[in-house]
Amino acid sequence: MHAFREPPALEDVPEPELPADGALVEVRASGLCRSDWHGWMGHDASIRLPHGPGHEFAGVVAEVGPEVRGIVPGDRVTAPFCCGCGACEPCRLGHTQICERDYQPGFTGWGSFAERVLVPVADLNCVPLPDGLAFEAAAALGCRFMTAFAAVGERGGVRAGDWLAVHGCGGVGLSAVMLGRALGARVVAVDVAPGPLARAAELGAEETLDGSAGDVVTTIRELTGGGAHVSIDAIGSAAIAAASVRSLRRRGRHVQVGLLSGGERGVGGVGIPMAELISRELEIAGVHGMPVRDYPALLRLVASGAVDPARLIGRRIALEEAGAALAAMDRPAEGITVVVPG
Ligand SMILES: [Zn+2]
Ligand SMILES: [Zn+2]
Repeated sequence: MHAFREPPALEDVPEPELPADGALVEVRASGLCRSDWHGWMGHDASIRLPHGPGHEFAGVVAEVGPEVRGIVPGDRVTAPFCCGCGACEPCRLGHTQICERDYQPGFTGWGSFAERVLVPVADLNCVPLPDGLAFEAAAALGCRFMTAFAAVGERGGVRAGDWLAVHGCGGVGLSAVMLGRALGARVVAVDVAPGPLARAAELGAEETLDGSAGDVVTTIRELTGGGAHVSIDAIGSAAIAAASVRSLRRRGRHVQVGLLSGGERGVGGVGIPMAELISRELEIAGVHGMPVRDYPALLRLVASGAVDPARLIGRRIALEEAGAALAAMDRPAEGITVVVPG
C-alpha cells in the first residue's frame, strides 16, 4: 500500500528485519478481514505508509532470533493479531491482547499478505498448531474466531442454556454463533441478508431474524422470554450497538466486537440507552482480541470437533488477488476469504 484507498500492488520488498527475540514465519494461509479494509481506508492511525496488510495467518517458522528458546524453524504456528510485549502490566497479568506496546502485524508492522511475516517476542506470541489443524483453518482462527471466543466466553460469560443474540453474521458473527452453540447457549442470529442467516442456522442458530423487517428488539425480547443474557454487536454500527443493548435481559451483558468508525466512536454518537443501563442493570464490555494464553482452550475445543473454523472459509484466492479482494471488502463477504501464497 503506497496510499490509502488506492489499489494495493504486489511488489518485491526486503525481508522483514529479525529481532533477537522474534521469528520469521513463512506464510501458508492468511485470512482477509474487514479490519484490513479499515486499515486500507485510513481508519487506523497506527499504519505508516508504505505498508503491507494482513493479520490472521498460519505458517511455518523459517528463522528465529538468538534469544528465542521455545520455537524452532519448522514449527507450524499461528500468532494472535495483537502480539504482546510480555513485559507491561496487562501482559504480565496475561492480557496480551491489550498490551501497552502491542505489535500488530498488518497494522503497526508489515503483515501477512506476503511470503514471510515477522512475529516479535516469539516465545510468547507464536502458538504451535496441533498436527491435525490445517493452515487455512488455523488462519481462520487467527482473528475473528478467537475474538468471538473471547467475546462469547471470557467477556460475555455465556453459560449453557443462556440466550445469546448475535447481531451481524459476517466472519466474527458466524464464529460467535458456532462458539455460542458449542458452549451450550441458545442462539438468535440477526442479519439483513438471507445468505448469512441461512449460514447461521446451519452453524447452530436456533432463531434467525431479518434485521430490516420489524422491531428486532421486541422480537428478541419475546423469543427469549425477556431478552438475551448476552448480546454481541458483530458489525460495528451505532444503530446495531444500541439495538443490541436494548435486546438484553435484565442484568444482561452487551459485548462490542465490531469496530465503529468516524463519528460513531463516542457514547453520544452511538446512542447507548444509559437510562436502561441503570434501570435494567446492564453491562457493556469491549473486546479487542483473545489473550495468547487462551489458545490452548480454543484449540482443545477445535480438536474436540465441537467447532470447526474451516466451515467459515468462503473462498481461497492467490496473493496476486489479495489487493483487489481487500478493496472490495466494503461489501460484506460470505464467510472468510483465505489468501494462499504461491
Ligand atoms: Zn481480522
Ligand atoms: Zn505488553
